[in-house]
Amino acid sequence: MLDVISSGFKEAKLKFKGKATLTEENIKEATSAIRKSLLEADVEYGVTKTFIKRVQEKALGQEVTLKAGKAQSKMKVSPADHFINICQEELEGLMGPVDSELKYAVNRPTSIMMVGLQGTGKTTTTGKIASFLKNQKKRKPMLVAADIYRPAAAQQLKVLGERIGVPVFHIEGENPVVICEEAKKKAFEWECDTILYDTAGRLTIDETLMTELADIKSSTSPDNILLVCDAMMGQDAVTTAKSFDELLEISGVVMTKLDGDARGGAALSIKEVTGKPIKFLGMGEELDRLEEFRPEGLASRILG
Ligand code: GDP
Repeated sequence: MLDVISSGFKEAKLKFKGKATLTEENIKEATSAIRKSLLEADVEYGVTKTFIKRVQEKALGQEVTLKAGKAQSKMKVSPADHFINICQEELEGLMGPVDSELKYAVNRPTSIMMVGLQGTGKTTTTGKIASFLKNQKKRKPMLVAADIYRPAAAQQLKVLGERIGVPVFHIEGENPVVICEEAKKKAFEWECDTILYDTAGRLTIDETLMTELADIKSSTSPDNILLVCDAMMGQDAVTTAKSFDELLEISGVVMTKLDGDARGGAALSIKEVTGKPIKFLGMGEELDRLEEFRPEGLASRILG
């Protein structure tokens, strides 16, 4: 996971080996290794530039402080550790603050609209979140199959629902807006307190899809709109997120397939570019492979 980015930070650390302090020269060498790995991992160019600038400025400030305060001899941590601490702070700043909470409604069922391009892991993630809400948050979720174009989609959701013990609602041959509206009524009958709408995806963003999603949004007024993004799509995931956000005003992102992706730069860019937080990470195909997003956790994993 995120091996390319991690290797850049490892290489950066080596630039301080045997060095007594942070200097302009070794900071430059270290940040150059990081810059290379971030771009290779498909972190957005502007985000990479800003991140490197922040790290350089902080590290150079550190150099001045060390010299001026003669603190060097008292220093317990090595220059490499100092530098990595700065990177940790800046990585957390880039991806944070923590904002993984969902919005819960009072006196009526909470609704979560799941959107995303086809193949990103949207249906799997819908099942994972339902399972998470049931087991960790002690809620009573229901799933709604609102993808009417892929015949297998409703069946896939039904299978997922059975595996996690969550009811699935679908009306054969009906349009998605009606399915979602009927689902709201069904939630009262089934005594469910959380409704997850699994909407249709396409291979690319097109007008028909966006109109349909906008219609579902205005008829159901969801409390949360979560965009499922495939980390393997790199910068395309970020561009997609920007478009979905402009049209639907998403609440946040679920970044999937971080387990299999050696690059995964989208995880670092998406908050900075869209202003929307990552809420969850998908870490595998199994239904329990979902994590609430913690910027400090991911930053620590990247830095090893
Ligand atoms: P959808 O078309 O967006 O609904 O995508 P699906 O839910 O059908 O998932 C597409 C593929 O991605 C399936 O093979 C899933 O098992 C796989 N998948 C989903 N989430 C993850 C994840 O977090 N990690 C990995 N490795 N695979 C995932």
